[in-house]
Amino acid sequence: MDSKQWICAADQVLMHTYGRYPVVLERGEGVYLYDLDGKKYLDFGAGIAVFALGYQNREYNDALKAQVDKLLHTSNYFYNVPAAKACEKITQMTGLERVFLTNSGTEAVEGAIKLARKVYYNKCGRSDGEIIAMNHSFHGRSMGALSVTGTPKYREPFGTLSGIVFADYNHYEDVAAKVTEKTCAVIMETVQGEGGLYPADKEFLKKIRALCDDKGILLILDEIQCGMGRTGTMMAYEQYGIQPDVVTLAKALGCGVPVGAFAAKEEAAAALVPGDHGSTYGGNPFAAAAICKVFELFEKQQVLVNVRGVSAYLAEKLDALAEKYSCIKERRGIGLMQGLEFDRPVKGIIGKAMDAGLITFSAGERIIRFVPPLVIGKEHVDEMIGILETVIAGEM
Ligand SMILES: *Cc1c(COP(=O)(O)O)cnc(C)c1O
Repeated sequence: MDSKQWICAADQVLMHTYGRYPVVLERGEGVYLYDLDGKKYLDFGAGIAVFALGYQNREYNDALKAQVDKLLHTSNYFYNVPAAKACEKITQMTGLERVFLTNSGTEAVEGAIKLARKVYYNKCGRSDGEIIAMNHSFHGRSMGALSVTGTPKYREPFGTLSGIVFADYNHYEDVAAKVTEKTCAVIMETVQGEGGLYPADKEFLKKIRALCDDKGILLILDEIQCGMGRTGTMMAYEQYGIQPDVVTLAKALGCGVPVGAFAAKEEAAAALVPGDHGSTYGGNPFAAAAICKVFELFEKQQVLVNVRGVSAYLAEKLDALAEKYSCIKERRGIGLMQGLEFDRPVKGIIGKAMDAGLITFSAGERIIRFVPPLVIGKEHVDEMIGILETVIAGEM
């Protein structure tokens, strides 16, 4: 069967929850993907900021295969070595003492919300702790994670959690005004991803940290997309000189294996006791071995050094493009998490770039998002800019 036939077959049985491109991807190699018809694509999407190490990293794949042949799963009624190692790595990276491993980012956010509510419950014996979340945020699609996601149309049909209040990102007074006696947490992305590639302002995040300290509120930072080296430091908040009480991770944490985690300060983490939270698959030896290998390869391949070097080059090239074409309003982002905002919907541009062999994603209607593998080189930036510029020139 060819691509067209597979797409037909898939459309018979898949739920219509995604607007998919008519492309069937079959394999990857480095920073390139190949579809079923053998067409090659330069990948500036990385499976939505997942494949930090690129495709077919030999050492990574070998580690996964070795773990498959040893032990895939145990249940959390037992200890396993890869999970212990993975959590140790996560505590070292985050500076937070305790970790819970999940299967996705959404579940990490769920855990963080439950933790915040339990800390509040232990304090005052009530379960009505309020959470302040940000407009234009994205935290996932389950009922809890969706409840703190700042896009009303995503939430509206589903009757999400009560006690969630939304404030404007990078607007300290608005957040401060929304604090009540019941506020138990503030949740935000350090760099908003889906919402349009907005980094938190330094002053804003510092003031929020001080506000949370002052009022005894947990600061939850969602680094599912912006964490794991994407901004040039392992955690984006390292660049702000602050530390959250809770952080959520996923995406590049597994580099293709579905994993996530939330980590918390000892004092907060102590609120969750046996019976409060759990997961059958979360932190199984296979998933945890993937996390361990990701950390090892980040060091070995000096991923952060590459991100810092190549991201400056990417920003410079995107700025030049924005300068040259009036349809581009602005370039925003940090590190290898960049966006170009256009004066028009970008769906057409992304589609044409895909036809020309470049994969990018949008973030909202008018923004093209660039979240490539963290191992790209300057030559890949040049190749990407070449394709994109041809497409944009054709649009003008
Ligand atoms: C992708 C994402 C999530 C959801 O993660 P899933 O693994 O899709 O459940 C949550 N928060 C942010 C910031 C994300 O980018």
